[in-house]
Amino acid sequence: MGAMQMANHITELIGDTPLVRLSRVVPEGAGLVAAKVEYLNPGGSVKDRIAVKMIDAAEASGELQPGGTIVEPTSGNTGVGLALVAQQRGYRCVFVCPDKVGQDKIDVLRAYGAEVVVTPTSVPPDHPDSYYSVSDRIAAQTPGGWKPNQYENQNGPASHYESTGPEIWEQSEGEITHLVAGVGTGGTITGTGRYLKEVSQGRVRVVGVDPEGSVYSGGTGRPYLVEGVGEDMWPGAYDPSVPDEVIAVSDAEAFAMTRRLALEEGLLVGGSCGMAVVGALRVAQREPDAKIVVILPDGGRGYLGKIFDDTWMASYGFTTGDGDSTTVADVL
Ligand code: PMP
Repeated sequence: MGAMQMANHITELIGDTPLVRLSRVVPEGAGLVAAKVEYLNPGGSVKDRIAVKMIDAAEASGELQPGGTIVEPTSGNTGVGLALVAQQRGYRCVFVCPDKVGQDKIDVLRAYGAEVVVTPTSVPPDHPDSYYSVSDRIAAQTPGGWKPNQYENQNGPASHYESTGPEIWEQSEGEITHLVAGVGTGGTITGTGRYLKEVSQGRVRVVGVDPEGSVYSGGTGRPYLVEGVGEDMWPGAYDPSVPDEVIAVSDAEAFAMTRRLALEEGLLVGGSCGMAVVGALRVAQREPDAKIVVILPDGGRGYLGKIFDDTWMASYGFTTGDGDSTTVADVL
């Protein structure tokens, strides 16, 4: 009798996500665009990768002790990854989210057993009520508290250098010409991009994508609605020498593409995925021979009440098409 083929814990299934070719959204004559589908990670996003690596490193260094509490400002995805690993290893989790984050995402964190504190989006980072300040205060005042600090933690980019980068190189059989990824903490583009540049001896071009107004593409941090990407400050997880360029994309373009990915490619993904694909298509259109890999960080279920809701879209002036309600007469 052979042993059953199974993982011993869900966290063992993190990584090794597939690439899928985008077809309908890529214009005729443009370069090839392959999407790395990170929502197929067990926690539903790319952030599972950094969660394991950051916790492993903190256990090894003694910063995180048995029975400790993980405290992090997170828009949801990093929280899910941390919560999965924390559950397995017996840590408590307290997460701090800005109030622009969808209720569904917060409910998911609570379902995994985490405690979630919600803070106002519209205050500057140094304000005592900002999600950075609140999480600092909670981490400092909780015995055994440890803040992974995904914005500064070098194990974030390191996890992508060790996993996402090598996976893409192998899956593309070394033929990738461009990596395109949205920039939030900058960990994904820094680690994945650094690996791909090194292994290709500088041949692979690395293209960051961020929301119009965010610092990476030269803005000042003006608010935008797309979640998980863009910054109003420069995090240590981001190495600005890795990307060769950073493309700015508007919320309107990002959300329109997010809806097209669900409707035309069967990919129900989040707004930062639509944003990254808009960036990838700009590269594909100017370089017909390119073989582009674009990272799709998370799935779309956390955005059903927002990007996929016509009323929400209309309330911000975004156009959507036909409207949500379908009557029998519409169908017949
Ligand atoms: N998209 C989403 C939905 C995210 O949660 C994140 C992480 N903040 C990103 C993109 C960007 O990834 P990174 O932080 O590695 O730049």
